[in-house]
Amino acid sequence: QQDYLLQTEKLAVAGQLAAGIAHEIRNPLTSVMGFLQLLREHFDQVSPESYRIVWSELVRISDIASSLLVLAKPEPAQFCNYTLDTIIRDTITLLEGQAHKVNVYFDSSPIPDVTLHCSPGQLKQVFLNLFKNSIEAMEDGGGTIRLSYDVQPEHVIIEVTDDGPGIPKHLLATLGQPFYTTKEKGTGLGLMVVYNIIQEHRGHIQFDSDGTHGTRVTIQLPIAQF
Ligand code: ADP
Ligand code: MG
Repeated sequence: QQDYLLQTEKLAVAGQLAAGIAHEIRNPLTSVMGFLQLLREHFDQVSPESYRIVWSELVRISDIASSLLVLAKPEPAQFCNYTLDTIIRDTITLLEGQAHKVNVYFDSSPIPDVTLHCSPGQLKQVFLNLFKNSIEAMEDGGGTIRLSYDVQPEHVIIEVTDDGPGIPKHLLATLGQPFYTTKEKGTGLGLMVVYNIIQEHRGHIQFDSDGTHGTRVTIQLPIAQF
């Protein structure tokens, strides 16, 4: 009886996810198809701008597919020992240029010398998705992404704060739900990926905000024990 209920629940979730995916992919696909039709019939009307739009629609479909792969877990991620320092630095380096363009700066307290038993690629993905959200939240006025750390015997706690507009309290519980987005060009999959990866690393993540100013993300990850 209980198994049956669980099964039904899982199918319902799968159905919702499938509906979401179909919906999210259909729009960009329609625009790519329209473009190809125009290309065939009115080759001379194809502007560089329409190339740009079609390209960004294809990138969107590709982003959605990559995010969903994290859920599908075709093969378990390879875990190895890797320093927190490298994960954070590599991610900041990757985004710094893009951040500076919209007057967003990173300010990290010294990164503690801790080793994590982890999938480095996946953890970089976590910080990439979080930093991107902070940059996008502040891109109108600029601001600072602050990073601080607290090392405990078995865990490291990483705090990421921004001074964007924050997240209304009643929406905090919605974060991580597939396709929840408030952005015109958002996929609403970034935080779903984050939650999944953190869970796979036996960590915790929490979002705090008073809903008027700034967001704080607290991530707890187990330290490799030697
Ligand atoms: P996307 O970025 O594509 O919208 P995400 O899953 O990354 O999808 O984020 C979901 C939503 O959570 C965002 O659309 C935004 O409303 C909210 N959000 C996430 N991080 C922040 C932040 N740092 N500041 C304000 N809002 C945020
Ligand atoms: Mg995002």
